[in-house]
Amino acid sequence: AGSGKFFVGGNWKCHLVSCFLISPCILKQYTQNGTKESISKLVSDLNIATLESDVDVVVSPPFVYIDQVKNSLTDRIDVAAQNCWIGKGGAFTGEISVEQLKDIGCKWVVLGHSERRHVIGEDDQFIGKKAAYALSQGVGVIACIGELLEEREAGKTFDVCFQQLKAYAGNDYQLSILWCADAVSSWDNIVIAYEPVWAIGTGKVASPEQAQEVHAAVRDWLSKNVSADVASKTRIIYGGSVNGANSAELAKKEDIDGFLVGGASLKGPEFATIINSVT
Ligand code: PEP
Repeated sequence: AGSGKFFVGGNWKCHLVSCFLISPCILKQYTQNGTKESISKLVSDLNIATLESDVDVVVSPPFVYIDQVKNSLTDRIDVAAQNCWIGKGGAFTGEISVEQLKDIGCKWVVLGHSERRHVIGEDDQFIGKKAAYALSQGVGVIACIGELLEEREAGKTFDVCFQQLKAYAGNDYQLSILWCADAVSSWDNIVIAYEPVWAIGTGKVASPEQAQEVHAAVRDWLSKNVSADVASKTRIIYGGSVNGANSAELAKKEDIDGFLVGGASLKGPEFATIINSVT
């Protein structure tokens, strides 16, 4: 882990998975996650978990459950949204504005997740604009970047990540907010999540060395393109099949400042293990 405060986010995505457990005499449906009931259970597991004090912890429920989570989860854990509208709210059917997120107590928003890029089709510029608007309204951004498998195999990992970073840092709105002399406080509200797409939800975690190599390159990019101060202060977290068994090894790497966790964040005790893996 680096010198900044460790940061662990749980991305609960849009799961609604049910499974049937069949024993010789019982046929029972277990709802695993993504329902009011399963979220209550996850929240109560998190409320009783013992968490390292020196770690920022954030969970990101689906929009419709944010209020439930805010009203039942310990204040020790902050709440993030999984997306937001690009600007001020208004006549944008189906969207959720940053103002609405603030109104229900969300301090963070996850932007640029690979599922939004590659499944929904959001591009760098659109994501960069959302980030700029959220930051301008005082909502922190968990800014995801990461390459596809074929991009890694073609030796384009750094190019792809730098291009995505540039979109967060470089559009007009942000230029004025982030690249000016007094912009450092805005960078305090950004956590960069390096999430190689081939590692997300696949069980194929990046090795600590693979992750460290990209994290170090991202920090170097920040140093050359923003400032040495921002480079040293910005948390760069890793995401992609992190679990309770592999987090401690990853956390030892000097440029890994935390994790963004999908699947394993749906199990309270395992998520607590990941949070406590800070070294
Ligand atoms: C994610 O969704 O951001 C993620 C990293 O998922 P998983 O941990 O399941 O790979």
